[in-house]
Amino acid sequence: MVDLDKIISLCKRRGFIFQGSEQYGGLQGTWDYGPLGVELKNNVKKAWWRYNVYERDDMEGLDSSILLNRLVLKYSGHEATFSDPMVDCRKCKKRFRADQVDPNEKCSEGGTHDLTEPRPFNLMFKTTYGPVADENNIAYLRPETAQGIFINFKNVLDSTNRKLPFGIAQIGKSFRNEITPKNFIFRVREFEQMEIEYFVMPGEDEKCHQEWVEARKNWYIRYGIKPENIRLYNQKKEELAHYAKATVDIHYRFFPERPEEDKQFDEVEGVANRTDFDLSCHTKGGKLVLADGREFPNTDATNKLTYFDPKTNQHLLPYVIEPSCGVDRATLAFMMDAYCEEEVKEGDTRVVLKLHPALAPIKVAVLPLKKNNEDIKSTAHKIKKILLGSGFRTVYDDTAGIGKLYRRQDEVGTPFCVTVDFQTLEDNTVTVRDRDTMAQERVAIDDLKEYIAKRIGHND
Ligand code: ATP
Repeated sequence: MVDLDKIISLCKRRGFIFQGSEQYGGLQGTWDYGPLGVELKNNVKKAWWRYNVYERDDMEGLDSSILLNRLVLKYSGHEATFSDPMVDCRKCKKRFRADQVDPNEKCSEGGTHDLTEPRPFNLMFKTTYGPVADENNIAYLRPETAQGIFINFKNVLDSTNRKLPFGIAQIGKSFRNEITPKNFIFRVREFEQMEIEYFVMPGEDEKCHQEWVEARKNWYIRYGIKPENIRLYNQKKEELAHYAKATVDIHYRFFPERPEEDKQFDEVEGVANRTDFDLSCHTKGGKLVLADGREFPNTDATNKLTYFDPKTNQHLLPYVIEPSCGVDRATLAFMMDAYCEEEVKEGDTRVVLKLHPALAPIKVAVLPLKKNNEDIKSTAHKIKKILLGSGFRTVYDDTAGIGKLYRRQDEVGTPFCVTVDFQTLEDNTVTVRDRDTMAQERVAIDDLKEYIAKRIGHND
């Protein structure tokens, strides 16, 4: 399997991902998605939305604000507890997450680190809104998209007339002032999440939790992850957030170079049974209870977030199952799993990203065999237009010889190359080259749309 360094170098070389603010020396924990990265990431999000919203009958979508009223994060518990313990080295002045630093590690100032006692560090980015920057105008950038869903529960329920069980899906940016961002896009300060809050009758939560774990695992496999690189991890009692009844993390083999197999895996997604904790914190007259027993009665909320159960004629607070996935980590996992180096013939190796066609940034590259022949070039442009019309991201490229062009497309995961040659001008057929097998087939231009659609599976 490929390690992170190779992926980082491919990302920079081919324009998938660049260091954020690189022009000014970078901004730690931020990354910019380049021309191919934005396509790949968008396709990951599309594949998630399709599978979790469109293909089901019990889901609605949402796009809530990044800036949140401070009260949202007061009653969610984030203001009081969304922190990691951190330590400082008195010698080199660096800051570490207490659970991630080895005290015997070498310090750049000589000897080992001289660490302070752990102190909690709140991970939320604070800002002010409006023209006056004072304590009364504090707002937070959301540290997860979930809270926007909880506070809109009633809006969605009333406007759609949904009955339990049903879910709300949301994709969007989240911000965490991580103490030690690292491992490329694995741990960053600005990232995207794809989250579902699925509302169920209390009592039906455990079965539903298991179903979501299965469904979510199958999504990764459907879009190309090899089953042996995915693991489910049941959080132990002592690891669970105090409000969670159970959490199953989906782990991917992000660190194949580590000698111990268990350490090769880390979280790409968490699937939690959050009971009615969130709705009871945010509902009018509800109460936030923290792990240490502190209580915050909700005297600020404007609405009850209850559900009227027509069977029992009662208002109740639904339970919530939350599959929460990181877009950046999922994108990284799909890239790592797709990356191959293959010896084509002795001494000749090609890099190929065997991405699922639905995720591939470019679906088809149309390549004229001779760039100095106007008829061949114009036919290639015509074919590009035909394929684009079917929604396939198609590019035209005549900037190198055909062998080099094939390799370039292999490296970025383009499933099909269509080559236009002299025979095309005679019989209206083209060569379609398959990325993975490198097999070439002659296809009539009139049949091309259908041929590609069939091979891709679906056209998004
Ligand atoms: P970790 O233990 O790795 O810090 P977490 O358990 O705090 O993650 P959650 O709060 O469960 O993460 O967030 C859900 C998902 O959001 C994670 O599984 C991950 O994919 C993504 N995520 C969380 N924090 C980050 C981050 N700093 N950078 C990139 N993705 C993140």
